[in-house]
Amino acid sequence: MRTLPIYTYGFEVLRRKTKKITKVDDKLIEVVGSMFNTMHKATGIGLAAPQVGLDFALTVIDLSKAEGGKRLKYEPITLLNPVIKDYHGTIFLEEGCLSIPFVRAEVERPETVYVEYQDLDLNKNYVELKGLLARVAQHEIDHLNGILFIDHLTKDEKKKLKPDLDDIRKGEIETDYLLAEIPKKDKNSHRKK
Ligand code: ZN
Repeated sequence: MRTLPIYTYGFEVLRRKTKKITKVDDKLIEVVGSMFNTMHKATGIGLAAPQVGLDFALTVIDLSKAEGGKRLKYEPITLLNPVIKDYHGTIFLEEGCLSIPFVRAEVERPETVYVEYQDLDLNKNYVELKGLLARVAQHEIDHLNGILFIDHLTKDEKKKLKPDLDDIRKGEIETDYLLAEIPKKDKNSHRKK
């Protein structure tokens, strides 16, 4: 199990639609382990493959350390090829993202979602998710489609966050977890804008 560097806002991989997983081999099992390890080290509760630079439809979620997690006894889950099939209700909740450090915002999303996914045996599952789990799953499934939580904000809200987002894009932030190194040319092209 390795600790993988986390790709931050500005990296193209976060904007790509991921590919479907059709085979589970030792390599993939190792990636899953490394993703859990990476997420725990960064004290995150969800992590999607693009956040570690990989463009396939895989996400891990572990709410056991989230607020109230102990009481609710959440099991860590691994979702392959997850798709939201149905949803209802709507609720505002604050979100953050390991790929967008220090930025938090209230995001409106469905309260309950019905998700179809495959487990590590490639068996199909269909689950009803509520509460924090529904929220995290939606955030992570968005990642697999190249969508970030800030995309759900209004123009004005996003405008307010622009200086912070620019800092992240330029790599001018310091986190207590490992970040992917931003290529020099990207830093320069940003400054010219
Ligand atoms: Zn995220």
